[in-house]
Amino acid sequence: DTSGGMLFTIASIAVIITAHFFLELELSQTAINSSVLGLLIGSFLSHIYTKKISDYENSLQEKNAALSILASTDDLTGIMNRRILKKVSERYFETEQRDNSDLTLLLLDLDHFKKVNDNYGHPCGDSVLKEVAQTLKECLRKTDIICRIGGEEFVAICKRADKAIAMEIGEKLRAKIEALTITIGDEKINVTISVGVASLNIDSTEKSADEIYRQADIAVYHSKKSGRNRNTHYGDIVADLNPHYSSN
Ligand code: GH3
Ligand code: MG
Ligand code: MG
Repeated sequence: DTSGGMLFTIASIAVIITAHFFLELELSQTAINSSVLGLLIGSFLSHIYTKKISDYENSLQEKNAALSILASTDDLTGIMNRRILKKVSERYFETEQRDNSDLTLLLLDLDHFKKVNDNYGHPCGDSVLKEVAQTLKECLRKTDIICRIGGEEFVAICKRADKAIAMEIGEKLRAKIEALTITIGDEKINVTISVGVASLNIDSTEKSADEIYRQADIAVYHSKKSGRNRNTHYGDIVADLNPHYSSN
């Protein structure tokens, strides 16, 4: 911003004129002319210089933004990667706790994915992962997070979702993936996902992102054990073990 410099130049010229006429300093015409000219040239040069610096800063900022998007994107699927998930989810957890709002984490793991690679080859497996990622993303709201945390595992984080809504979201995602047929050449591939759900609400005793993640992990394991292609909420596992536990 060079408006400060301009203002300074105008003010300086005003001072010279004031000094000449009102304070009767009797400056010579040449003195006035050369100081005004000097100021104008100086101002013009510093304007160009400042503009160059600010253009350079802007281009650096753009490059930095592009780099940080690149660093936070999963190469294969184009969705968020694990690196950025931690940063973003911590921010989500903080704001939702401050607002006493519900937050849900869904951990999604493709079922028997090794078989997809074995039957159709690794490149086909990659294409399946891409389509699954896109499908999951399309099913979620813009304020939700979807991230590929590793091989064939995804994490979704949904704001303002209590246990009931979270299970609806999990069911919607599960059903969408089950209904998805991925066509690669002559092959038609179908996959399913097992989902583990854990919610953070006002009554939660444990409030860290790590703890919710741990609970979702246990819930996925439960979904796998009880037949795959299903949702399990961590609260229900605990409620089964302890009937007095309220799983809301
Ligand atoms: P489960 O139902 O118990 O989850 O069985 P699974 O075969 O999906 O689970 P497991 O963890 O045993 O194997 C995951 C497989 O996912 C191993 C690997 O072949 C495959 N995989 C991991 N990352 C990638 C990837 O980036 N591309 C492809 N094509 N396959 C991958
Ligand atoms: Mg896995
Ligand atoms: Mg798997």
